[in-house]
Amino acid sequence: MGHAYTYRCRNCGFEDKFNQGHGFLIHSQPLENYLKLNKKLFHYKTHRLLKRLSKENNDLFVKAGFQVYKCPKCKILYDKIEVTVFNHNEVVHKSEFRCSKCRSRLKLTNIHRLKNATCPVCHKSTFRKVSTHFQLWN
Ligand SMILES: [Zn+2]
Ligand SMILES: [Zn+2]
Repeated sequence: MGHAYTYRCRNCGFEDKFNQGHGFLIHSQPLENYLKLNKKLFHYKTHRLLKRLSKENNDLFVKAGFQVYKCPKCKILYDKIEVTVFNHNEVVHKSEFRCSKCRSRLKLTNIHRLKNATCPVCHKSTFRKVSTHFQLWN
């Protein structure tokens, strides 16, 4: 369950949707359970890393969900599946993403409050939130 945010550029009309929240298979669970599902929900590198971590420690939890990130330089938005692996309260692994334009490290953003961002097409700061939908994923 989560939200889908639609943004539209007032300058060029480009429209995009960003997801935030947790899906049916994408939620907190013991890492072993995820690996038993035998479904590759994540990037292959992440999957490989999860497998390796589970071999070192069989007491890990994995949490994943759609998060919206923003490039601190370009102010362009991205939605990504953030994966966090916990060993009790300690974070063992957390996803990191880079901007595809300038390679800066993306920062998590509070999309609930974010009204304006930069349009990825025309690069003007006229990318506006136009709607929010409640959404169910699977
Ligand atoms: Zn635009
Ligand atoms: Zn950037």
